[in-house]
Amino acid sequence: MMKKKSIGILKDSKTWGSWKVAKVLGLKAVKVPDPSGAIYQRSGSGYRAGDPKMITIFQYDPEFQDTFESDMQLNHYRLLLEDAGYPVDKMMLEIIVRDGSTYIATNRGITEEMYYIPVRIIYDDEVRSYFDRKRRDLLGHLQSGVMPDPCKPWETWNGIRCERYCPVWESCDIGIEAHREEKT
Ligand code: SF4
Repeated sequence: MMKKKSIGILKDSKTWGSWKVAKVLGLKAVKVPDPSGAIYQRSGSGYRAGDPKMITIFQYDPEFQDTFESDMQLNHYRLLLEDAGYPVDKMMLEIIVRDGSTYIATNRGITEEMYYIPVRIIYDDEVRSYFDRKRRDLLGHLQSGVMPDPCKPWETWNGIRCERYCPVWESCDIGIEAHREEKT
């Protein structure tokens, strides 16, 4: 009897707020005419009586989607496993939506409480050089005592990460400022 080849699947579990889940899924709200053909009966803000009624739907938008961090993290784990002799064929994220089933999550297009999404395989050299650079930078800053430059706007999703998702915001001037603004 032929022995079945085993498949190595790397799965990582996350608990994320619905905004981050929508970002990773690339789900963006867009306004489209109501397919039923309904029209506005009265004029209002931004529309006039007789205009097609607009509804909100959620569409995949590759420009909005950002999976860079989780892709890199899981590929890093993949290389650690493979270096230890455990080949990885597939990678998955199991995401529990922290605010799943709430009005806010639904308004972001997040209708499930849990998502499974595949993670792309990135070239080994790209992953290794990214983390080597990060390690070198970290050691350099620890030795010199000089704080690194703050994250770039694309890395912070234009500040949203600083406000809601950064685990080290208390050690960062931009993070402290973002939380101060939130309180006021
Ligand atoms: S709070 Fe600071 S470290 Fe955290 S994401 Fe924002 S800029 Fe980066």
